[in-house]
Amino acid sequence: CGIFAYLNYNVARERRYIMEVLFNGLRRLEYRGYDSSGIAIDGDRESNSAGDCAAPAPYDSAEPLVFRQAGKIESLVGSVYSEVDSMDLDLEKPFMVHAGVAHTRWATHGVPSPKNSHPQSSDLFNEFLVVHNGIITNYEVLKETLIRHGFTFESDTDTEVIPKLAKFVFDQAREGDQAVSFSQVVIEVIRQLEGAYALIFKSPHYPNELIACKRGSTLILGVKSLTDERNYSSAFGDVKSLTADGQPKELFFSSDLYAIVEHTKNYLAIEDNEVVHLKDGSVSVLKFDHNKEKPASVQRALSV
Ligand code: GLU
Repeated sequence: CGIFAYLNYNVARERRYIMEVLFNGLRRLEYRGYDSSGIAIDGDRESNSAGDCAAPAPYDSAEPLVFRQAGKIESLVGSVYSEVDSMDLDLEKPFMVHAGVAHTRWATHGVPSPKNSHPQSSDLFNEFLVVHNGIITNYEVLKETLIRHGFTFESDTDTEVIPKLAKFVFDQAREGDQAVSFSQVVIEVIRQLEGAYALIFKSPHYPNELIACKRGSTLILGVKSLTDERNYSSAFGDVKSLTADGQPKELFFSSDLYAIVEHTKNYLAIEDNEVVHLKDGSVSVLKFDHNKEKPASVQRALSV
C-alpha cells in the first residue's frame, strides 16, 4: 500500500503527462503490496455538476475527477483512459499548476472494490479528497457523529470519516463566516483522529494546493527545481527558502523514496505530527501538538 502525489508549479504540464507521473508513482509503490488503486486529477471548470444532478458545484475551480479500481494498477490505467475518452476530456490540455493524488490500497476495513478504494471523498462534488495509509482506530465514533450531522457514507472504510470531517469543519467555518485556510481545516481534522496514518488532502476549495501529514507511517516530500538544478543540489537550508522563489518546480509526496528518486534527490522525510502544506510553489511545515491550540511553524532542511 502506498500514497503518491504530484504538483507542478509554474510549468506547463499536459493532463496526460500528469496522469502518467501519477501512474508511474503507483507502479513504483507496487512492490509494497496492494489490492486496489485510484487517482484524483482536475477536470474542466465548464463541466462542474455532480453526475446526473444539475446543481452547480459549491466552488469556482475545476471539479476533481476521481478514478478507482480494484485489482492491478494496469487495470486502473486502462479504465482511466477509457473513461477519459468517453468523457471527451482533453488529454493535451496544459496546466501551469495542477495537484494530483494517487493511492494503492491494502484493505483493512472493507473489501477491495471501487467504492472502498481511495481517494475517499466527502461528497458528490468531491469537496475534500483523501488518500490514506494506515488505520483510524476511532473511526466508528467519528462516523456516528458525522451521521448525526447528516452525512451519509458510501464505503466500508475507516478512511471515509477523514474527508467528511474536513467538509464538516470547512462548512462550520463557512457558516460562521470565518475564512479558514486549508491547513487549519486539516489540523482540526487530525486533532480528532486516533491511530496510524499517512494522509494527503486535495480540495477544489483550495485549488492547486496539497496537504500531507503523518503519524506512524512513512511519508516523503520531494522537491525538483526546473530552473537551476545546481543551486538546489548545493543548497542546504530550510524547506521554505528552497521553495518560495516563484520558480518552476515539481513537488512530490510518496510513501517511499523509491518513487521520488527518479525525479529528484532533494527530499525531506516528514516527521510525525508535521503538516506539510504546498501552496503557490512554496512549502510550509507546521508541527501539530495535541495539547496546543495553534501549531508551530518549523524549519526543515532538504536532504541533497
Ligand atoms: N485503512 C484504510 C482502508 O482500509 C487504508 C488501507 C491502506 O493502508 O491501504 O481503506
